Amino acid sequence: MKQTNLVENIVSVLKEFKPADKDFIALHEPSFQGNEWNYVKECLDTGWVSSVGKFVDQFEEMLREYTGVKRAVAVVNGTAALHICLKLVGVERNDEVLLPALTFIATANAISYIGAVPHFVDSSLETLGLDPKKLGEYLQEIAEVKNGVCYNKQTGRRIKAVVPMHTFGHPVDLDVLVEVCERFKIELIEDAAESLGSFYKGRHTGNWGRVSALSFNGNKITTTGGGGAILTNDEELGRWAKHLTTTAKVPHKWEFVHDEIGYNYRLPNINAALGCAQLEKMPDFLKQKRVLAKLYQEAFSKVAGVSFFTEPNFAVSNYWLNVIRLSPEWSHLRKEILQASNDQGLMTRPVWKLLCDLPMYEGAPKMDLSVARELEDSIINIPSSPYLGAAYA
Ligand SMILES: *Cc1c(COP(=O)(O)O)cnc(C)c1O
Repeated sequence: MKQTNLVENIVSVLKEFKPADKDFIALHEPSFQGNEWNYVKECLDTGWVSSVGKFVDQFEEMLREYTGVKRAVAVVNGTAALHICLKLVGVERNDEVLLPALTFIATANAISYIGAVPHFVDSSLETLGLDPKKLGEYLQEIAEVKNGVCYNKQTGRRIKAVVPMHTFGHPVDLDVLVEVCERFKIELIEDAAESLGSFYKGRHTGNWGRVSALSFNGNKITTTGGGGAILTNDEELGRWAKHLTTTAKVPHKWEFVHDEIGYNYRLPNINAALGCAQLEKMPDFLKQKRVLAKLYQEAFSKVAGVSFFTEPNFAVSNYWLNVIRLSPEWSHLRKEILQASNDQGLMTRPVWKLLCDLPMYEGAPKMDLSVARELEDSIINIPSSPYLGAAYA
């Protein structure tokens, strides 16, 4: 195969999905075809635009029901949700927190906000997320449990928690990870920012962590403009999450009593209104995205040198961002493929740089990251908006 053929073949597959009336297709565009206008208008008409209102309560209830958790607390963005999740499970300054090296920056930054130390873990080719088996073997080597507390033998620091991330909507192998967490006495927090609508063995992601984080940023499968949520099956932690994120104010008709240092991480009612309308549309979004993924899978199966990533066998994924992977002998063409597709108005993007290579995390502890490096070099994200699949759904 000639090099130029692979570039051309990939671009021509992407082009097949480009509607005739569009000059540009984005990676993931929001879609507002339901009750968004009605609900937002209601906020404006009634004046309830800010930090309290009926849509906040309704949005939390809809999230709780959709994900099957006991409590959902809406917050201002996914990064804030992660920050509070870490506090809720007791992560403190100088603790180490395990996370994949291949994730969005928010996962590591939230750990830094606490003053804790990110400790980077390798990924799995099967899920694109943290590899729980490899983590277990690594901890066997470098960690010891004393009096129910896990310590890093090399740094002397406590290893308090692990934050897996369900990459582009594909769940990590949670059962194996839960076993590792129990064995090493480590708290589990799921960064489910990308996996609303993704199920692991029939249950929604976010149910395995003691607490979990969602994001409703503009590029996610459901958006509130900006927003996030904390999920938990622990009612006591759920109450504390609500308290901490609403300035820790003790309920009273007129007095200002705050009983601990809280955060103003409240999701405004106007954003929650948008979220309620978006959640009503989730079944449509998921259906359209599955159709698109299926069509991509068929189309790319005919192109040698590249493969379309499909959900792991234990999962039903939301296919939030579709992924193609170049086989190793062609990964040097990635830049050319990105250039050629973007030149044609077909937005494509490489995956994040490994976080351990960014200046602020260069000195952080990490394990062997060979699979994460392989993924870093070979992944291309391709257009994934629901409307691209709607035409065929
Ligand atoms: C989107 C996202 C977040 C949260 O982002 P916000 O923009 O703060 O809502 C966190 N982690 C991952 C992996 C994400 O993709």
